Amino acid sequence: MAVIVQKYGGSSVADLEKIQNIAKRVIQTRENGNDVVVVLSAMAGETSRLIQMADSASGGAADGREYDVLVSSGEQVSISLLSIVLNGMGHKAMSLLGHQVKILTNKIYGNARILSIDTGLISDELKRGKIVVVAGFQGVDEDGNITTLGRGGSDTSAVAIAASLKADFCEIFTDVNGVYTTDPNLYSKARKLKKVSYDEMLSLAGAGAKVLHPRSVELAKAYGVPVYVRSSFSEDMGTLVTKEDKDMEREVVSGVAYDRDQAKITISHVPDKPGIAAKLFTPLSDHDIIVDMIIQNASSKGYTDLTFTVSQKDIGEAKRLLDAVAGDIGVSRIDYDENISKISVVGVGMQSHSGVASKMFAVFAEEGINILMISTSEIKISCVVAAKYTELAVRVLHDAFGLEQEN
Ligand code: ADP
Ligand code: ASP
Ligand code: MG
Repeated sequence: MAVIVQKYGGSSVADLEKIQNIAKRVIQTRENGNDVVVVLSAMAGETSRLIQMADSASGGAADGREYDVLVSSGEQVSISLLSIVLNGMGHKAMSLLGHQVKILTNKIYGNARILSIDTGLISDELKRGKIVVVAGFQGVDEDGNITTLGRGGSDTSAVAIAASLKADFCEIFTDVNGVYTTDPNLYSKARKLKKVSYDEMLSLAGAGAKVLHPRSVELAKAYGVPVYVRSSFSEDMGTLVTKEDKDMEREVVSGVAYDRDQAKITISHVPDKPGIAAKLFTPLSDHDIIVDMIIQNASSKGYTDLTFTVSQKDIGEAKRLLDAVAGDIGVSRIDYDENISKISVVGVGMQSHSGVASKMFAVFAEEGINILMISTSEIKISCVVAAKYTELAVRVLHDAFGLEQEN
């Protein structure tokens, strides 16, 4: 008998009919002789609705603790509904919230990290023959406060539960048939990958391919959890995310990702002397704001410009924090641009190949796409461009790197 964790995303639990459909799949898995733990997201659109409510009630400055109590509530609805449906179909099911399981996290409200999971209760209920249905996206801190894991975080709940239970594998059911060379909803020529390595998936997810939450891939890699990304609406086996093996081709470029959720901040006329960068960035990191790309221009007459990106959800707080130190440092102006997009090409084979970056720049030049920022790592090259070029940039790169053909 295997232990299987199945996670269903928002579109898979969007209404009662869809919940009845996934109930059938869960029952089938159970009847095949497996122990099944189901992790659910909130019904489609619900988390966004709750976030909007928190923002309008607070002018975008809701207290973190209260924000998490509100936005975690969507999952309470979906898990209880599925359990009611499963019970109605003659199967014993039990819903559990994060704090009931004891999914312990740190205290970073809105973006908490899982520290440990107590598997006692889940294991006991499985032994009693129940299907256990756990709320994704939420946990509890050491003082008993509810926390949430960041948008898309129920993938991470599922993989973390699979790792703690030493489950045989984790299935992530969503609205596409697997992991593709790029977002299949943005480009119809995207090709489905049968297998993808943890590292490649980590790069894609980190670059914005939201099919998997980046932290879920980190955990899957750390604990060796095989993850299948599959569609709730088909029987296709999907994509296996696993450790790199020799029958995985080391493509130079294996995928193109985009991230529309970034914002660019430019601080002009910054005195070019030691300690200034620390003064600007320390308040941001103290408030758990992640700074992604950073560029510092060459110094001229003792002054320089600094440009960097943060997540759009953090822009209000970043403005407040930077305004507070700007006067003290003596910067002349700060500009904010939310109309940007980060486009990345990803591939483990890049480590041993040159020319990927120059090809990317040449493709953008040909299309008249201006590059605003560039960053490179061993297996990823990212460019920030104006948001209006997102689709065009993804498609021309996908074509230029020949990703639609089976190699
Ligand atoms: P869920 O609600 O099931 O968690 P998400 O919306 O979070 O689903 O993730 C699935 C979506 O990810 C797909 O609908 C697709 O548009 C998007 N996506 C982005 N990049 C990729 C990719 N490389 N492969 C597959 N899907 C991708
Ligand atoms: N419901 C949460 C969200 O919409 C978590 C998830 O879907 O993974 O972000
Ligand atoms: Mg998701």
